[in-house]
Amino acid sequence: MNRRSALKTFGGAGAGLLGGAGPLAAAQAQARRGLPPVKITDVKTILTQPAGDHLVVVKVLTDEPGLYGLGCATHRERPLSVAAYIENYLKPFVMGRNCDEIEDIWQSAYVQSYFRSGVTGNNALSGLDGALWDILGKRCGVPVYKLLGGKMRAAVPLYAHAAARELADLEDQVRKWMAQGYRHVRVQVATPGFSGYGVGGAATSEAVQKMRPEGVAPSPVFEPTPYVNMTIKMFEYLRAKLGFDVELLHDVHERPTPALSLQLAKALEPYRLFFLEDCFAPEDVAWFQIMRQQTTTPLAMGELFVNRHEWLPLVTNRWIDFIRIHISAVGGLNMARKVASLCEFFNVRSAWHGPGNVSPVGHAVNMHLDLAIYNFGIQEQNFFSPTVREVFPGAPEIKGGYMYSNDKPGLGIDIDEKLAAKFPYKTPGGSRGNDRRLDGTIVRP
Ligand code: MG
Repeated sequence: MNRRSALKTFGGAGAGLLGGAGPLAAAQAQARRGLPPVKITDVKTILTQPAGDHLVVVKVLTDEPGLYGLGCATHRERPLSVAAYIENYLKPFVMGRNCDEIEDIWQSAYVQSYFRSGVTGNNALSGLDGALWDILGKRCGVPVYKLLGGKMRAAVPLYAHAAARELADLEDQVRKWMAQGYRHVRVQVATPGFSGYGVGGAATSEAVQKMRPEGVAPSPVFEPTPYVNMTIKMFEYLRAKLGFDVELLHDVHERPTPALSLQLAKALEPYRLFFLEDCFAPEDVAWFQIMRQQTTTPLAMGELFVNRHEWLPLVTNRWIDFIRIHISAVGGLNMARKVASLCEFFNVRSAWHGPGNVSPVGHAVNMHLDLAIYNFGIQEQNFFSPTVREVFPGAPEIKGGYMYSNDKPGLGIDIDEKLAAKFPYKTPGGSRGNDRRLDGTIVRP
C-alpha cells in the first residue's frame, strides 16, 4: 500500500465513525479545544534600572486577552543594542506567530540574521524565548519547571558573596552567612595597595601609583602576582579559622596569566574549594586541558560564553566541573536546558551566572531550570531590594540559603510597567575594563 492510499483508507474509516472528520482530525480538534492556538500580537522591550544594573525585559503579548509572558534580555553593558535588535528585527519577525512553537521560533529567529551566536542576538532571543515559556506555563496552568520535567529538589541551594578588604572582616562575613544557613560562600579579599575584582573600595594606593612609569594612562592598577599571593593567603587563613565543612568558592575573573592561574589552582588544592571560577579568559579556554591534568581543584567556567564551540570542548572532555553560563547570553532557557542535558552526560554540574546583571525574570528562569535538572550544582544568589521586588512582583523568594518557587503558572513573576518607567537608565549602559597593569597594559575585566 502506498502512502496516499493508506491515508485514504485511514480517512475513510474515520469518516464512517466520526461523521466525516476522521479520528486524527477529531483528536487534533480536541487538542485544539484544550489548548487553542494563541498568536503573538506585540513584543515590548522594557528598559529599567530600579537598582544598580541596567535591565532589559521582554514582554510578549498575545491575542488572548490578558495573556502575556516575560523574558530576560539583560546585557547590562550594551542594553540599548539588545533593545534595538528586538525592536527592529525580532519583533517584526515573530508578530503573528503561534506562541506554542517555541523551538521553531527559536531556531528560525536564530538563523534569521545569518551571522549568529553573538551576545546581542542571543540576549534578544532569550527575552523572546523566556516569554514564550512563561506563556506556555500559564496556558497549561503549571510552573515552567513542570514543563521541564518536574521538581528534582524542594528548593534551590544558593551561594552567597563575601568580600572584604581585611581577612578578619571576610571571616566575619562568612560566619554571618553560615549562621543564616548558607553552606556555600564565595570569598574575595582585596590585594593590599592594588585594585582587584569583587571587592568594593579596593583602591590603588599612592605607593603603587608611584611605581608606575612616566606617561602611563591614569587608572586603577591590578598586578597578577600580588593578587595570586593574597588569594592563597586568604584561603590559608579562612580554612584555619573556619575548618573545612563550609564550602568556599572563589572567582579569579580571568585576570592572571595562564601560568599564574595554574600555580594558583595547584596551590589552593589543600584548601579544597567548592570551585575556582574563570581561571582563564574565554579566549584562552584551551588552557583548561592543561589545568585539568595538573590539579584536583574543581573548576567553573563560562559566564561570558555566547557560542556552543566555547563550552563544547570543556564539557565533552570533562575539563571543567561546573558550567557557569549567563543564560540570556547563550539564547535563553531553550538553549540552557540543552546545555544542562549535555552536561549531565559528562557529569558537569550547573552554576548559572546570577548576580545583579541578571534581571529578576532571568533569576526566575535560572530557578526553574535549577529545580528541574538532575545535574544541578549550585546557584549564585542575588538579593532583590524592596524596590526591585515592587517592580517585579513574584521575584523568587530567598530564605536560609535557598531560593523558592512560588509555584504559580509560568515563570511566576510579573513586572509593574508603570513603576519600571519611574527608573529610566541613568547612562546608556554599564562599562568594564578600566584596570591596567603598572606599565599601562589593559587588564581583562
Ligand atoms: Mg564570575
